[in-house]
Amino acid sequence: MAKFDKIKALIDCRCPHCRIGKVFSGSPYALRKRRTNQICSHCGFFFELEPGYFYAAMYISYFMIIAEGVLTGWLIFEIARSESIWLYLTTILSVTLFLSPINFRYSRLILLYCLSPKIKYDPKYKDELGLK
Ligand SMILES: [Zn+2]
Repeated sequence: MAKFDKIKALIDCRCPHCRIGKVFSGSPYALRKRRTNQICSHCGFFFELEPGYFYAAMYISYFMIIAEGVLTGWLIFEIARSESIWLYLTTILSVTLFLSPINFRYSRLILLYCLSPKIKYDPKYKDELGLK
């Protein structure tokens, strides 16, 4: 159950420490006012643990883009059975550009939730979620 709560909090872009506050403000596709919050609005957790901490998220984003490109290419091959390189290039590029705001957010969240052993969920916030 705790694993499910962690995945749900990650999908909802919640703070990894309290799972209540939001990590990002604004919509991922908003042209303005979209950013990573510096601190959690609920528990005050500082998201960027050290200067340049989120640079590591670029590597995660890179792997996400590769996976999306391979999956898109495979789907094009299965659906269209085309040998046109332009069909593959334009579709993969379009999908990659369309998903880049999502990749930006979830690469940072994966870094916070899965690849940062110093960040632990504090169970004292569990009552505030109404889970018990
Ligand atoms: Zn928090």
